[in-house]
Amino acid sequence: MLSGLMMDYPLTLNAIVEHAKRMSPRKTIRTKLPDGNWHEYSYAAFHRRVRRLGNALAALGVEPGDRVATFAWNNYQHLEFYFGIPCAGAVVHTLNIRLSHEQLKYIIDHAEDKVIFVEGSLLPLIEPIANQLKTVKRFVLFNLAEGQECNLPNISYYEDLMAAADDDYEWRCADENMALGLCYTSGTTGMPKGVLYSHRSMMLHTLGVLAAAALGPTEMDVVLPVVPQFHAMAWGLPYACAWVGSTIVMPGPHLQPAPLADMIESERVTIAAGVPTIWNGLYHELRRNPRDISSITQLVVGGSAMPRGLIEAYERDFGVNVAHAWGMTEMSPIGSVAKLQTRHQDLDAGDCWDIKAKQGYFVPGVDARIVDDAGNELPWDGETMGELQVRGYWVAGGYYKIERDQEHFTDDGWFRTGDVVTIDAQGYMTITDRTKDLVKSGGEWISSVDLENALISHPDVLEAAVIAVPDERWGERPLAVLVPLNGEHDSQALNAYLLERFPKFWLPDEYVVVDEIPKTGVGKMDKKALRQRYADGEL
Ligand code: ADP
Repeated sequence: MLSGLMMDYPLTLNAIVEHAKRMSPRKTIRTKLPDGNWHEYSYAAFHRRVRRLGNALAALGVEPGDRVATFAWNNYQHLEFYFGIPCAGAVVHTLNIRLSHEQLKYIIDHAEDKVIFVEGSLLPLIEPIANQLKTVKRFVLFNLAEGQECNLPNISYYEDLMAAADDDYEWRCADENMALGLCYTSGTTGMPKGVLYSHRSMMLHTLGVLAAAALGPTEMDVVLPVVPQFHAMAWGLPYACAWVGSTIVMPGPHLQPAPLADMIESERVTIAAGVPTIWNGLYHELRRNPRDISSITQLVVGGSAMPRGLIEAYERDFGVNVAHAWGMTEMSPIGSVAKLQTRHQDLDAGDCWDIKAKQGYFVPGVDARIVDDAGNELPWDGETMGELQVRGYWVAGGYYKIERDQEHFTDDGWFRTGDVVTIDAQGYMTITDRTKDLVKSGGEWISSVDLENALISHPDVLEAAVIAVPDERWGERPLAVLVPLNGEHDSQALNAYLLERFPKFWLPDEYVVVDEIPKTGVGKMDKKALRQRYADGEL
């Protein structure tokens, strides 16, 4: 090796906390508490609390490598866990509060969590299984309501532990290849699987998120992560914002459209990030009861496809720019973003919205290809559909405690996303479906996602899900499940509307009206549940 190379400086999370304290000590983290009051403190105070947490964890007997879980909304304490647990060498395991008891128990046992930090309002969701958990030695409580009772065994109170802990602390995460975090996929298409992030992968992901080509928050931004911290690391925003000193606004449990609208207005939020369901709700709220959301420079949306109609509506009605992103728990999660590029500058608004409705270009750090069933690479022509495979600095190389298999990983080192996509000549990707949700009718593919997007752009439709149902003649046929905007719809009118866009064989055989489309723990349409309801004769 040549002499005089750059220093070998580890990619470990403590660098972010230290940098935040040095560079942005007076910038603030604001949390809307369960009682509606605001909590605010500075990055300097945050730094002190993260170090104390390290000592508190040591006092609880937490060793490097131990898994320490969180069961919480987005708030400053959860942010402390995000940093304090990995900086103590342990692994922060974010539990999805919306999972069933069975799934939660499975995940906690599988991860072998030793300690769980539990927020007061969520106690009823975990108490029923607490005595069945095999490895949990201690529950640490915070944000309890006045006089709130608790039926968990082996409890400590977070603030008591912090009060007893010292400020002096040596970080315990010297090696960048140590595990930092554990997040289970939300199980939209199967049993949840654990994705284990390292300090190195998460630090590189954070740099990736900070690139202007990705989300690019800066010190000037006021960032509202509506995406829960228990969903795919809140898309990396907590780490990215702390590194550059953005103001962070944590919504706590206040995720309904009206309080979100109030928060964006009063805090002058510039970047807000959430799934389409949230922005759909906010849009209708703002139409009914206007607020000033003009501070927003990027309404970041991902997790499932943002309908083009909603992107257009935000820009047309409120002048708010939408940044549509694609990612996966397995990708830490950022994969691609649909921002405009030089050649789009002269396009009219309609063409720009078409581009923003795509899942976009791959961010620097992520490499992608599409392949057919036999594994042959397919062209980037915007038409040929194939399975998307990715690799990169923050892409999963396996699942936690599961043997690496060919269903998810290729022999030549790519991760199989399970998304079926096209990529155009400029590298913009469009998701046509998930492999498990495609409808195969008479040997031809029908994209359930395309049908849903078209249906939801019809003025009578509030929500729409399309699922494949077995059909004797065609193998499978599409069935549309609808929530009409005013309780009524006209199937013939919808068919005519779809026929303007798709071939006749794509038209759903039937429209079924429901009160609500079931959602998964992270707010995606739960098509697995819909398929089950259909199989049980309930649709
Ligand atoms: P799960 O796999 O359990 O649903 P994830 O939240 O990790 O949990 O989901 C990743 C998947 O979500 C992607 O593979 C893709 O199918 C879907 N997805 C994420 N972002 C988008 C988007 N912008 N448009 C369409 N689908 C998306």
